[in-house]
Amino acid sequence: MVKETIRVYARVKPLGRRQQAGIYSVDDDEKPLSSLEILVPRDLADGFINNKRESYRFKFQKIFDQEAKQDVVFDSVAKPVAECVLAGYNGTVFAYGQTGSGKTFTITGGAERYSDRGIIPRTLSYIFDQLQKDSSKVYTTHVSYLEIYNECGYDLLDPRHEASRLEDLPKVTIMEDSDQNIHLKNLSLQQATNEEEALNLLFLGDTNRMIAETPMNQASTRSHCIFTIHISSKEPGSATIRRSKLHLVDLAGSERVAKTGVGGHLLTEAKYINLSLHYLEQVIIALAEKNRSHIPYRNSMMTSVLRDSLGGNCMTTMIATLSIDKRNIDESISTCRFAQRVALIKNEAVLNEEIDPRLMIVQLQKEIQELKDELALVTGKQRTSELSQEELLQLDELIETFLKDNDPGSTLDVGADMRKIKYCFIHVKELMNHSKISDKKLLLQHISEAKDTNKEAGEEELKKLKELLQQRDNEINILVNMLKKEKKKAQDALFQLNAASAGSIERDCSKTVNLEESQSPLSSFILKEAKDFSSSVHRLPLLSRGTGGMMSLGCQEAFEVFKREHADSITIEDNKQLLKQRFAEAKYLGEKLNEVRNKINHLKGEITQRHIQRAALGVSSPSEELNTLDPVEEKLRKQIEEEKKSYKTMFNRLKGLKVEIEHLQLLMEKVKMKLRKDFEVWWSEEAINLQQEKPEMVSSPNTATVYPQFIKSSQHLSTNSFSEATRISPNEDPAGKNNSTTSSNPTLKTRTPPSSSTSVPLTGDSQADADILGFIKARQNILQKKAQCISLCPFRLGEQMTFLLKSTISFLK
Ligand code: ADP
Ligand code: MG
Repeated sequence: MVKETIRVYARVKPLGRRQQAGIYSVDDDEKPLSSLEILVPRDLADGFINNKRESYRFKFQKIFDQEAKQDVVFDSVAKPVAECVLAGYNGTVFAYGQTGSGKTFTITGGAERYSDRGIIPRTLSYIFDQLQKDSSKVYTTHVSYLEIYNECGYDLLDPRHEASRLEDLPKVTIMEDSDQNIHLKNLSLQQATNEEEALNLLFLGDTNRMIAETPMNQASTRSHCIFTIHISSKEPGSATIRRSKLHLVDLAGSERVAKTGVGGHLLTEAKYINLSLHYLEQVIIALAEKNRSHIPYRNSMMTSVLRDSLGGNCMTTMIATLSIDKRNIDESISTCRFAQRVALIKNEAVLNEEIDPRLMIVQLQKEIQELKDELALVTGKQRTSELSQEELLQLDELIETFLKDNDPGSTLDVGADMRKIKYCFIHVKELMNHSKISDKKLLLQHISEAKDTNKEAGEEELKKLKELLQQRDNEINILVNMLKKEKKKAQDALFQLNAASAGSIERDCSKTVNLEESQSPLSSFILKEAKDFSSSVHRLPLLSRGTGGMMSLGCQEAFEVFKREHADSITIEDNKQLLKQRFAEAKYLGEKLNEVRNKINHLKGEITQRHIQRAALGVSSPSEELNTLDPVEEKLRKQIEEEKKSYKTMFNRLKGLKVEIEHLQLLMEKVKMKLRKDFEVWWSEEAINLQQEKPEMVSSPNTATVYPQFIKSSQHLSTNSFSEATRISPNEDPAGKNNSTTSSNPTLKTRTPPSSSTSVPLTGDSQADADILGFIKARQNILQKKAQCISLCPFRLGEQMTFLLKSTISFLK
């Protein structure tokens, strides 16, 4: 891009013979610009006192004085512009000045001498000369010649033009496209392949202009002529075309109206005769102002056509032609003022390159053909656009092998054939889409299977629970039966006791004690007790085993007390606590194991999901990434390993616990057995001792034996039961409060019954009384033994003793 101000030159027309020269001076020493000073003589004010400035100084790029020749002007003014146009930029050279100041002479030239050739012929000559010299590009040259008169455009190069009037020439109109580019309709572009053709066209245009000019329209002074050289160039083989145009403009005379004198008014108020020049000045003024957004190009055809030349994409040069004689000094000053404004305008010339689509297509087609030829030469095969059936099958096999190959380094080599490569991509894409659908199906199937598995697991769990429930039901039934049996046994005991109280003493006691006549319920009770005790002693181990450890209630109570006092019970209790802890721990571990197992399964599920995703990704965009390890999967695997370690540790611990629990259970069972055995031994010893003291009461199976049955206890006691609820603490015994004995005292002595004293009322029958006393004595012994026994199990003793004594007293009464 070339950004520079419009270059402004001045040319002073040689004075005619009769012309009086104005006072001016040219100073070329002020580099880089030249200075023109115009002096206005005082006497020009026609006698008026003129206080106006007499000297006007103007700066120009260069000032061509009267002696300046056409070639010099061309070299300085037009040649640089022509060079730019040849390089691809737009250029404009326009001449501005009053009528007769030498515009036409400068632009077109004088008709008299060859040396008077103006800028147009010299430029044409120069351009064609340059084009001939440059063989690196192909140039095409056209020319157009437009005359604008009264806002109407005329094509001066119409070859059919035979009319004698300007109006007979083809009218040129302005058209603007969407990009605000100006197009001139009906303006012919005549190709000029050489200088001669171009000059002929120039001559044709000038002729037409001359013929059309009449004294009436004064076309030569009031019209603008724009000779344009259009150059297009391109390098051979390139689709890029450079298009540039050079406007060589001969404007209408800039003279003003009311040319009444050279007074101050004239210089400021005079108006252009030509309206379009007025608009030109408006455009120039607008362009010279900073921050001016609207430039009134459209006000006139001339400004529209020269739009690019003024503040646009163009290298523009102006030459101000001056008639420096005294009469035209004011116009000269006006011209110079205008030139100063134009000099402020900045243009931005850009290289006009464009790509010719037709040339591009041709070029590409040619290139394709060349490449095809080259390819055929290299491969030895003539390639078509389609792959053969055989080639397609081969490719399918290659793709299949590639996809199945687990080796990360495997490649799919189909050669340097874009058709094959494209086919592979399409094929893999189809596979990927299919795989996506399959994955979805697989996922759904997986979910369905997971559901089935869960269902199966659930059913299995339900079955186990049902079995457990059944087992528990069975256990409960057994326990209920046992309870019932025990209850029945207790009821039987009560019934027998009642029966004994209300029934015949004779029937119950005749065989053992001589108390048949007495019919005492006490004797029946005592006998029954003794009998039950005896049978219990002998039956105990058998019962314990046969009934699953069930004992009579009294025996059980005695056992409970024995057990409490036994040293092994501490061991049992300790083991029981330990077992409780172990069970709790085992339960906790079991729950933990389930959690860990679920977690591991969940992590495995995530890995599977990851595989599916990566497989899908691999199909959609095969890359090396697939061959690399998935960090997410690695992390998941590490987590699984950690969980597995934890699972193993807990599992081993649980395994150890199971062994420990089983061991503890066996140990407890063993201790319990020992305790029971010890109790049985003690129980038997007590029974034997009792038997030795009263052999007649236990010697015969038919003999009524004394049985230490503790009726009060109706609780269900099991040897297996270590429940605190089944124990009755001596301290809690309410009966103890009603007795003189302290039930908490293990060395409790039975209170001597009142019946043992002589104060006992007797029947009067000596034999009977002796028997009664004997019985009482025997009973006392039994009770003493019993008390010894009870001392170990001191519950309900007071109550029972009271009951016995009361019964005895009641009987005696
Ligand atoms: P314009 O086009 O500005 O009205 P012209 O170019 O027609 O003026 O010039 C008017 C007359 O002056 C012509 O006869 C032309 O030959 C002559 N003339 C103009 N400039 C020069 C010059 N530099 N040297 C010689 N003659 C000139
Ligand atoms: Mg002219």
